[in-house]
Amino acid sequence: MIRLAVVSGKGGTGKTVITGAIAHVSTCSKVMVDCDVDAANLELILNPKVIERQEFAGMDTALIDQAACTACGICAGACRFDAIKTNGTSFVVCSDHCEGCGVCRYLCPSYAISMRRRVCGEIFYSQTHFGNLVHARLTPGAANSGLLVGIIKKIALERNSDCDLLLVDGPPGIGCPLISTVTGMDAILAVTEPSISGLHDLERLIRVCHPLSADIAVVINKYDLNIPGSDSIRVFCQNAGIPVVGQIPYDESVMDAVRKGRLVTEYDSPAAQAIHSLWDEILSTFGVRAFAG
Ligand code: SF4
Ligand code: SF4
Repeated sequence: MIRLAVVSGKGGTGKTVITGAIAHVSTCSKVMVDCDVDAANLELILNPKVIERQEFAGMDTALIDQAACTACGICAGACRFDAIKTNGTSFVVCSDHCEGCGVCRYLCPSYAISMRRRVCGEIFYSQTHFGNLVHARLTPGAANSGLLVGIIKKIALERNSDCDLLLVDGPPGIGCPLISTVTGMDAILAVTEPSISGLHDLERLIRVCHPLSADIAVVINKYDLNIPGSDSIRVFCQNAGIPVVGQIPYDESVMDAVRKGRLVTEYDSPAAQAIHSLWDEILSTFGVRAFAG
């Protein structure tokens, strides 16, 4: 099995559109994972049928038993996350701020604090035309997105170990969810756009991904909107020893596909042709060794 993650240094680069199109054009058996758990949208273009759902419980949260609390204030003074508030006479935990470290429970002289399970999202196991999809929805503002990413990748791998391809739609940015996404991957496809900020984001992304994965390649989306910008990305990649495996032109059919919840490769368009070529290039760059293994 090859484990391929499609990532980008920021949102809005076309990462999910490209992931969905790869799911469409790749003929091997595959399982997909949407690791953008804060704003999952691969489901909007893969039209999954949910066959299983389960709660996601992140870190525990502290709870104060008001009957046992003597209002000494030790817990509030010890909480490094400022999660325990007082109105002058009683103390309560603000669960949105609680990081579940348990320090308050350890220090409370009255044994008034307990730790409670906190449900902060949902995990879905679904079927699509192209293979199974594992996706999730994190409660807005909830932490633990990196943990959730690790869990849904594990579910996908355990239940689909006989597939040829694990195809991951990564989160934007370079934070904890991105690190959790690319850890254990064989190959990373970084999607970028030809702009100064696009190049800057790509450089940061590569710096984070390099120590975590064996192979990285780049695809330039909307490359023809800024040819000098695309050239700068190619020069950067050449100096860094990173192959540019594709370039996708700006194409109105992409927006039409997004609006209609369709896959861009369902169209006969320049962008669709470029994505077919991209997949061929991915196979020759990553695939022969990985599929053989
Ligand atoms: S440390 Fe315990 S007794 Fe003191 S305020 Fe906190 S919960 Fe109440
Ligand atoms: S568990 Fe940790 S973060 Fe949560 S209220 Fe207690 S000390 Fe603060």
